[in-house]
Amino acid sequence: MNSAREPRIVVVGAGLGGLALARVLQLHGRSVTVLECDASTGARAQGGSLDIHGDTGQTALRAAGLLDRFRALARPEGQEWRLLDPATATVLPFPGPAHDEDSPEIDRGQLRGLLLESLAGGTVRWGRAVTGATPLGDGTWRLLLADGTTEDADLVVGADGAWSRIRPALSDATPGYTGVTFIEAGFDDCDTRHPALARMVGNGTLLAQADSKVLLAQRNSNGRIRAYIGFRAPQNWQAAAGVKLGDRAAVRAHLLKMFDGWDESLLYLLRHHDGGFVNRPLFVLPAPHAWEHVPGITLLGDAAHLMPPVGLGANLAMLDGADLAHALIAESRVDDAVRAYENLMLPRSAEAAQGCAEALDNLIPPTDT
Ligand SMILES: Cc1cc2nc3c(=O)[nH]c(=O)nc-3n(C[C@H](O)[C@H](O)[C@H](O)COP(=O)(O)OP(=O)(O)OC[C@H]3O[C@@H](n4cnc5c(N)ncnc54)[C@H](O)[C@@H]3O)c2cc1C
Repeated sequence: MNSAREPRIVVVGAGLGGLALARVLQLHGRSVTVLECDASTGARAQGGSLDIHGDTGQTALRAAGLLDRFRALARPEGQEWRLLDPATATVLPFPGPAHDEDSPEIDRGQLRGLLLESLAGGTVRWGRAVTGATPLGDGTWRLLLADGTTEDADLVVGADGAWSRIRPALSDATPGYTGVTFIEAGFDDCDTRHPALARMVGNGTLLAQADSKVLLAQRNSNGRIRAYIGFRAPQNWQAAAGVKLGDRAAVRAHLLKMFDGWDESLLYLLRHHDGGFVNRPLFVLPAPHAWEHVPGITLLGDAAHLMPPVGLGANLAMLDGADLAHALIAESRVDDAVRAYENLMLPRSAEAAQGCAEALDNLIPPTDT
């Protein structure tokens, strides 16, 4: 440590990565504060199901002392994948290597809840949106908050996701659009209300792909199915198509035209979902993304290496958090710990980002236009 007192470690963002860091630090008796812009734990829906891999996410959960509780909540049967022919909806053999056999699924909200519950009361300070960080000249940092207050830290960890407010202190990189958009649609109580779809999806994930388009449907907990309708298009595809995102009928008509010729059982995903469509253009950071080490500040998770959502981002965010915590526990100086962590994390994420970019191109191949 830089001085006799304990370093003030402030994590910006109570996502999976920031929470894993805080949990492992606390498990080893270290103090940490997490600033989160959301007003409370339930302020925002947390999204779909995540498969948690043995060598990344589960490693982090083991370090957090939460692996058993994770296994009690997780759905090993959710690892099932079904590949369907788009024109006939018949099941096809899955190409390529077998999936990781030990990657049970869990809803993101459940996993985040597990980490949150494990922290000492008051660790996460809700409703604290950070707007930026300024150096104080002695290796320490001042965080500026939207409510006009400030927070000083010996170590700031930007765990604030894709649109990080901490990243600009380290790097000029900003996320760019991949050319791929996912549109999300949900089905509630599907075994009762959408039984044919429930049977078609099974316990895990259904995938149909053709012509740079994909339909993906994934079983979540509590009888919910979440579908992603993926395609290549300009980011402002809705303007080009003359539809408004809130106009469900217009979006549906546009998508049905796009997926013309696909089997009716698959088009059910477009026709009969509950609620609206959610537009999710996919952004990534340039890869490899790295920065010159700066004392007293670093990044983890999506803030450091936003990559296509093909099943690694949440796993890596938690592993980053656990690795940074271990480095801070092992090294007596904060700066040595952060350097050790960055030397491990940056090459690992560069390799992963390349793999994820290739996986996205395989899933939804680039078009010539
Ligand atoms: C559609 C989709 C599907 C995905 N599926 C998978 C999957 O199956 N498996 C997988 O491993 N990954 C998946 N991912 C990727 C995964 O969601 C992310 O990589 C992961 O959530 C990153 O975690 P994080 O902690 O770095 O950031 P986040 O989860 O984004 O958390 C950041 C936190 O910081 C807070 N915050 C943001 N700005 C501020 C601020 N200024 N001040 C204070 N707080 C702030 C946010 O509110 C949030 O709580 C998917 C992503 C998408 C979009």
